[in-house]
Amino acid sequence: MKKTDRYYEYQGCIHIHTTASDGTKNLEEVAEIASAVDLDFILVADHMNLDYRFAGKEGYYKNTLVLIGYEHNDPEDCNHYLLFESSDVLPADMTPQEYVAEGARQGALGIIAHPDEIRSRVGKYPSYPWLAWDAEGFDGIEIWNQMSEWMEKLKPYNKIKMLFSPRKSMRSPTDRILQIWDDLNLKKKISGIAGIDVHAYPLKLGPFQIIIFPYKVQFQSLRTHLLLREELSSDLDIARKQVYDGIRDCRLFISNYRWGDASGFEFAARNDSRLVTAGGSLTDYNKAEIIIKTPDKARIILIRNGKCISEMNGDRLECKLKENGLYRTEVYKKNRGWIFSNHIRIGL
Ligand SMILES: [Zn+2]
Ligand SMILES: [Zn+2]
Repeated sequence: MKKTDRYYEYQGCIHIHTTASDGTKNLEEVAEIASAVDLDFILVADHMNLDYRFAGKEGYYKNTLVLIGYEHNDPEDCNHYLLFESSDVLPADMTPQEYVAEGARQGALGIIAHPDEIRSRVGKYPSYPWLAWDAEGFDGIEIWNQMSEWMEKLKPYNKIKMLFSPRKSMRSPTDRILQIWDDLNLKKKISGIAGIDVHAYPLKLGPFQIIIFPYKVQFQSLRTHLLLREELSSDLDIARKQVYDGIRDCRLFISNYRWGDASGFEFAARNDSRLVTAGGSLTDYNKAEIIIKTPDKARIILIRNGKCISEMNGDRLECKLKENGLYRTEVYKKNRGWIFSNHIRIGL
């Protein structure tokens, strides 16, 4: 946790599989690893399974808050969807439109998982894209999913390299998904989170068996940083609501920890009377400016309605605004994506 004048920043990992589905460590082991690498929270999402939640396993494990939802898929094993706080696992024969709507009706937090997979739907490593963009009621999208980016880049000629340095291949969210996300946000707030989709699969490689993506390695890659107005409560019910509301309200940015700890990053808009951060809004651009501060020197890009409007190398970018719009920022280190903020809305 990092405290600033305006908020408390908590960083955690989202989309984690355990032995309740196809992960390889049980919940207690996963929580232990998460707290060893100082994650403030983790969001577990096993396939079609909420056993750990029903067994009362949500809660704090040392300093790490462990919350449990699940990952729904349709009968064709497509359209994966993370649901947190649904009353139960929804029926397996539902269409994506139905489970998104039912999740929203129940007040659950719903996040579209690894939407942008374009490799073949058949073969040894089939894709699991999101195709049901007409579904209504989702709160967020995994704009960046570690496993998904890795699988999309996996080719026979680079397999060994990719296996031994799983985080090195990480580049950034795709332009395709960023455009979809920006377009959606012009109509309605949709949060953009990072998912790690960790399973820690064992893989046989000749005489050796190696674990692809051990939990500890994955926990040091894509992280979601929540900006909460109040300190995370020690009461589980209150803390759960703080985390889910923070995600719903887009009060967050995501980072790739591989390129440095992004805590302390700031993205704000201010005018004479107000200062807001990601998820916030100002009524118009008059006398407003954007301020971006990064904890390390990097390439900072300011984006309005999906288009770059300002760019610089350094650790601070300030820009007086000339138009209303939907603003966000992307930060790169040596062309590798490091930090991606959620939007600030000006005059929308
Ligand atoms: Zn999935
Ligand atoms: Zn998954």
